[in-house]
Amino acid sequence: MSNKFSLSAIGQDSHRFVSTDDEKPLVLGGLTFEAEQGLEGNSDADVLLHALTNAISGITCIPILGDIADELCLKHKITDSSAYLEIALADLAEAGYELAHISFTVQAKKPKFLPIIEDIRKSIAKIVDLPKEHVMLTATSGENLTEVARGAGIEAFCIITVVPLESESYNS
Ligand SMILES: [Zn+2]
Repeated sequence: MSNKFSLSAIGQDSHRFVSTDDEKPLVLGGLTFEAEQGLEGNSDADVLLHALTNAISGITCIPILGDIADELCLKHKITDSSAYLEIALADLAEAGYELAHISFTVQAKKPKFLPIIEDIRKSIAKIVDLPKEHVMLTATSGENLTEVARGAGIEAFCIITVVPLESESYNS
């Protein structure tokens, strides 16, 4: 892979909400929202970290969500999605790139994103070691147009920009 240029890639993910009698909490961007209805999945179903992980796979061509995450989740009981993201980030470094910018767009009827966007940006920025200014998130309700927009779950898209790792200049 040529290391001369910045590259971009897109990732997507979606999860259905658990049924209301299931007490699984909502996890978004590494934050747990105890009062909100959680998402179905073997893992914490962190739809944002999954979309980001998929976007990184869009650079490395190494799929993490699937066999690798399933093994961590089902065999080793690691349900924290940041563990899957860490593997993708290691693959990215191996390919000679690092994250420069992340932009998410989310569609969800609930929860209300406006009050939690800043906390989510901060959390993801910390996980990936980027300034918060380079982790953006917008959310729309979807106007009841689709099943997601009518409250069945949450869908997220993530576009990343990665730049070549320049070992000398980055370390000085
Ligand atoms: Zn997922």
